[in-house]
Amino acid sequence: MESNDNHPLDFKSVGNHPSRPQGIGYVIDKGQKGCDHMLTGTRVTIIGGDARQLEVIRRLSEMDAAVQIIGFDNWECRLSGVRQAELTAEAISRSDAILLPAVGTDDTGRIDSLFSAKPLVLTEELISAAPAHVHIFTGMAKPYLRKLCELHSIRLTELFDRDDVAILNSIPTAEGALMIAVQNTDFTIHGSRSLVLGFGRTGITMARVLQGLGSKVAVMVRKPEHYARAYEMGFYPFYPNSLADEAIQADLIFNTIPSLVLTANVIAKLPAHAFILDLASKPGGTDFRYAEKRGIKAMLAPGLPGIVAPRTAGKIIGETLSQLLTEEQGNGRRPT
Ligand code: NAP
Repeated sequence: MESNDNHPLDFKSVGNHPSRPQGIGYVIDKGQKGCDHMLTGTRVTIIGGDARQLEVIRRLSEMDAAVQIIGFDNWECRLSGVRQAELTAEAISRSDAILLPAVGTDDTGRIDSLFSAKPLVLTEELISAAPAHVHIFTGMAKPYLRKLCELHSIRLTELFDRDDVAILNSIPTAEGALMIAVQNTDFTIHGSRSLVLGFGRTGITMARVLQGLGSKVAVMVRKPEHYARAYEMGFYPFYPNSLADEAIQADLIFNTIPSLVLTANVIAKLPAHAFILDLASKPGGTDFRYAEKRGIKAMLAPGLPGIVAPRTAGKIIGETLSQLLTEEQGNGRRPT
């Protein structure tokens, strides 16, 4: 959709927008810096992934990086400086940086790719062919990848751990969550009572978005400073020991806590029409078995940014990755 070309994350188009609000200056500055520093001579290997990776590839190509893409045989790439490759030790040895998908590998080293039917497996033999200075990037790493990198003293960065990436990703996450809530309820969000569990990077955005639509938002926090901040922001804060009481009046529950918080005891208190959307990483924080038994609709919705806004989510990754790589080049952390 070309109409999205002036998206705030599009570093080229944001320059001197006269009406741009100050609040997104952080993103603009980050992008403008990226413009000045190119990635000429940096060899980036992208292995597998989904539509998000296409944005990353575009960004790296604009930055003049030498990009090899592996697991993209069903995608016709016409970008300069980008070449298709097979997953071989030789290809890995030609990498200063490697980008893996949102979930780097599974527990056996398998890498998902939407654009190839060929299996991709990151083996120890392959990783040992990487140059000593290689830096591996992924969204989040499973123990397999962490261990492989540890064994070979390879730098590994989990991009979704970074506050900037997590906060920016919370925007498509909250939008996707709203979409699912609207599709699964027969009442408006306006006027409903929502519980948002967790007041971190995703929880805050979720609560604000619901508030903006006219929901009465209660947020579950566990620290007094978060209680005070939630109150200041116009939410109704409460501590975990009140969750079962708060559940009695809840229409919508959005969980962002990756531990079991929506227990059978809490779910038993919910009204029959309540809808639970669990945003926390798998397996979520909901007793789904009991919710089903009680006839309460409950869903786990992982990976929303990549599903509802792959282009934006790809820009977030591409912008952050190119920023980190230019910083590294500036610090002389790898041969140029
Ligand atoms: P975050 O910033 O660390 O926030 C997590 C929040 O949960 C914090 O407020 C934390 O409280 C609270 N918390 C953790 N354990 C708790 C417990 N046992 N009891 C009560 N509160 C607890 O994390 P985030 O970036 O918002 O991400 C939250 C979850 O959403 C993660 O699992 C992440 O993988 C997932 N996520 C999902 C999507 C999606 O598309 N579904 C997108 C982005 C993220 P304190 O501040 O007191 O520690």
